[in-house]
Amino acid sequence: MTKKDNILIIGAGLCGSLLALRLGQRGFNVRVIEMRPDLRKVDISAGRSINLAFSDRGIKAIRLVGIQDKAEPLCIPMNGRMIHDKEGNTFLSNYSGRSHEYINSISRGELTALLMDEAEALDNVTIEFNKKCKKIDFENSTATFKDYNTKEDITLNADVIFGTDGAGSSLRKSYYLEKKFLFSFSQNYLTHGYKELSILPTDDGGFKTYKNALHIWPRGDFMLIALPNLDGSFTVTLFLSFDEGEYNFNNLTNPEIVRKFFQKEFPDALELMPNLVEDFFENPTAALGTVKCSPWHYKGNTMLMGDAAHAIVPFYGQGMNASFEDVVEFDKFLDNHKGNWETTLKAYEKSRKKDTDAIADLAIDNFFEMRDHVANPIFQKKRKLEMALEENFPDEYSSKYSLVTFNEDIGYYEAMTRGRAQDKAILNMIADKEIDLNADLKEILKRVQQETNEILEEDQVAKIMHY
Ligand SMILES: Cc1cc2nc3c(=O)[nH]c(=O)nc-3n(C[C@H](O)[C@H](O)[C@H](O)COP(=O)(O)OP(=O)(O)OC[C@H]3O[C@@H](n4cnc5c(N)ncnc54)[C@H](O)[C@@H]3O)c2cc1C
Repeated sequence: MTKKDNILIIGAGLCGSLLALRLGQRGFNVRVIEMRPDLRKVDISAGRSINLAFSDRGIKAIRLVGIQDKAEPLCIPMNGRMIHDKEGNTFLSNYSGRSHEYINSISRGELTALLMDEAEALDNVTIEFNKKCKKIDFENSTATFKDYNTKEDITLNADVIFGTDGAGSSLRKSYYLEKKFLFSFSQNYLTHGYKELSILPTDDGGFKTYKNALHIWPRGDFMLIALPNLDGSFTVTLFLSFDEGEYNFNNLTNPEIVRKFFQKEFPDALELMPNLVEDFFENPTAALGTVKCSPWHYKGNTMLMGDAAHAIVPFYGQGMNASFEDVVEFDKFLDNHKGNWETTLKAYEKSRKKDTDAIADLAIDNFFEMRDHVANPIFQKKRKLEMALEENFPDEYSSKYSLVTFNEDIGYYEAMTRGRAQDKAILNMIADKEIDLNADLKEILKRVQQETNEILEEDQVAKIMHY
């Protein structure tokens, strides 16, 4: 084991900070370079997914680096989705029929700060700020940064350089632009963008609406969601088309139209948001996209990880969780690392890529589910049945959502394959009126399992026939 290898990490976001901590714990010399100022000293979070849904795959990573007890106080459990209809009625739909399965709302800034503190506490890890990576020579393992303090360029080299510099990764850009090897890359934008808004706390610091849920106002073509923060506020996100529909980001151009839109579509939310107009015009509107690429690595010199390798849309609440899981999965390959980085990076990517491709596709599916299907009666009947199956047969049934979110020991690909087959089975059975919710649940479970297995077998046969 070449423990003294020098590792350079570009980007001290969620993935880069966790990776630095883990590699530091393993004894490597780690230098992290971040473009922005130190978020522990300067408030730089405005308008950029202030809080995130943090669930079992991410928690597994936090456990790996031994800081679960420090992360827990930052979490607000969210047991289910609180659906708000246009009339202001609400109903809570739990994420799972097992009471120990819930997701958490966590502050991006607080979690990143915790990871940075823990990484920096190690003698062999340093983090430097205000230095932007401009280019990477991946043949020679060097990276050039613009130092915003001195205004000078610096070039650093390392045994391995990791690009954890997010969806707009400079390392990925250099792979793509330099055309020195066969690099495949796709970037697909949604027609919808997002804007962050807020529900402020009550005067005495309390929550203006139910604290332990992820609130959703599904409206077919668009939606509003809200996640709680520890200070009693909620971060609210509007997902809306840029240019389609009666109201869209391009035509919400003055306070009257914005208020009219909210009055019509989200009247109960508007009541909680006297600050709506200020937020709306102060905060940026941003695009949402999926990035897939391969290979993630070049020889043994450089490696993409986190959003830099696989940016996904946020509708499964899995982008950070998947980026954290990258570190957990990579860590397994380090157990067998014998000093040959090329072999290690290659083996990791080979095993990991199908799972990150799967969560990218699942996240797109959930875009439609959240904004539309959650309010659909067939979907609600399905959720009710799945909840009953999970409650009554906790060891025998897990919905697709549970497989993805709470089953951290199976990969996203397996969760997707099994989950989709189950969904198809149940929806077909409900549509064909083959399910009587009052019938014997054990019998229903058997039929769902049987139907699911048949679908999985058919899929298997179809796959073989493609070759
Ligand atoms: C609206 C929204 C909501 C989301 N909600 C969730 C959620 O609920 N749950 C969830 O799991 N995920 C969620 N995500 C996804 C999550 O934010 C990302 O998957 C996660 O931030 C990826 O972490 P990362 O470290 O790979 O990238 P980032 O967090 O983007 O970090 C990249 C870091 O690199 C730095 N950097 C960038 N370029 C350079 C450069 N050239 N030189 C030096 N440094 C550089 C950046 O400043 C940043 O600090 C959401 C995303 C969005 C947009």
